Amino acid sequence: MVERKKWSEEFSEWYNDLIESVGIIDKRYPVKGMNVWLPYGLKIMRNIERFIHSEMDRTGHEEVLFPALIPETEFQKEAEHIKGFEDEVYWITHAGLDPLDVKLILRPTSETAMYSMFSLWIRSHADLPFKVYQIVNVYRYETKHTRPLIRVREISRFFEAHTAHDSYEDAERQIKEDLEIFDRLAKFLALPYIISKRPEWDKFPGAFYSLGAEIMMPDGRTLQIGTMHNYKQNFSKAYDIKYETETGDHEFVHQTTYGMSERLLAAVIAVHGDDRGMVLPPTVAPIQVVIVPIPKKNAEADVFAYAREIAEELRNVGLRAHVDERDIRPGRKYYDWELKGVPLRIEVGPRDVEGRKAVLARRDTLEKRVVERDNIVGEVKKTLDAIHGNLYSRAKSFLDEHIKRVDTIEEAKEVFEDRRGIVEIPWCGSDECGLKMEEELDAKMLGIPYPEEKAKAPEGKRCPICGREAKFIARFARTY
Ligand SMILES: [Zn+2]
Repeated sequence: MVERKKWSEEFSEWYNDLIESVGIIDKRYPVKGMNVWLPYGLKIMRNIERFIHSEMDRTGHEEVLFPALIPETEFQKEAEHIKGFEDEVYWITHAGLDPLDVKLILRPTSETAMYSMFSLWIRSHADLPFKVYQIVNVYRYETKHTRPLIRVREISRFFEAHTAHDSYEDAERQIKEDLEIFDRLAKFLALPYIISKRPEWDKFPGAFYSLGAEIMMPDGRTLQIGTMHNYKQNFSKAYDIKYETETGDHEFVHQTTYGMSERLLAAVIAVHGDDRGMVLPPTVAPIQVVIVPIPKKNAEADVFAYAREIAEELRNVGLRAHVDERDIRPGRKYYDWELKGVPLRIEVGPRDVEGRKAVLARRDTLEKRVVERDNIVGEVKKTLDAIHGNLYSRAKSFLDEHIKRVDTIEEAKEVFEDRRGIVEIPWCGSDECGLKMEEELDAKMLGIPYPEEKAKAPEGKRCPICGREAKFIARFARTY
């Protein structure tokens, strides 16, 4: 067996190795930053997306599918948006040998593709709120170091929801709904997170304000896995998206967006993993229970038939169960399924068959327990719930331990030198001091805690840069 990197010590190498060895991604595709998805990775991603689709249905979002190409003329309508993306877009300039009259871009995100259509579709106040979403691939020419599922030039599974509203208040209500959806999704993935309101210099190009959801990676750096933006009327004015009010006036709509991607999968892999490989939450695991028959020479009992019977009983109650009947040693099978993160293993040998028992082995704690064959469905369900709960609480403690409140730049620097994580520090609120802190700490300002009631600095705290009274608590971290 190959020597594996340790999750706890060399996370970055562990991640890069694992993602290929368990069959999530093949990085050898000959375009830098673009990867091939493999069946196991897609199966997990599909389970994540199934939950997202059901949340979109529950909240009245309709699914749409827009073309990947956007004419230059549409792309250029919102000035800040172009400025934010112009370095990152791939251009299509020719069709065959002929130069195009109007150049096309490969979508880096779909505002500029969707909004000319929104202006045709949205007519009256009765059309509002208008809520659509799609899950598509988008392209961004990343110049930073690329990393599978995290920083790529083709984001294969980009989720984007776009909404239009008759007032700022209704758009704010939408942001609250987005946060509630995100919370349910995070619980589904057993991922604890924080929400920050981004500073002015780091909001989405064209947004009035941006929120970001971060999780804590094993090496103390943060990963953004969700964003929500309130655009106010910035895009509706540029794309002429108007509706007729009840009194017959014409008003521009207020808009929001909500974005996520395969980074959700990266977060699941990174946060829950350990030195033995992946540990998948039962909610997203393609195989929730693997049953390993352990035949013994000269034993009468049919361990294979016994294992198949158990699998069928589990499948009948909707669990994803698999019997590993390969002709290799049980130890090798344990190794494979532990690497792939299957939450629960059931081992059955001749003695278990005779005594009508089975051994349950948890992937998260590696504990083993003997259960009665006749109670197996109940025991398995109970154990899978316990695994999910344990993954969440383990990750929550890790996140909490990695958020440190400090008063001075020196203290903040110590945190980053030591175990990293997130630093919370008083801030006067000026861009100048915020940017200065980013520079001094060699870290990014994630923003201020959201909702903003949580962002107020305690009385008497001072901005460590200018010495003025601090208005906010600002969060800094080294990020992916
Ligand atoms: Zn200041």
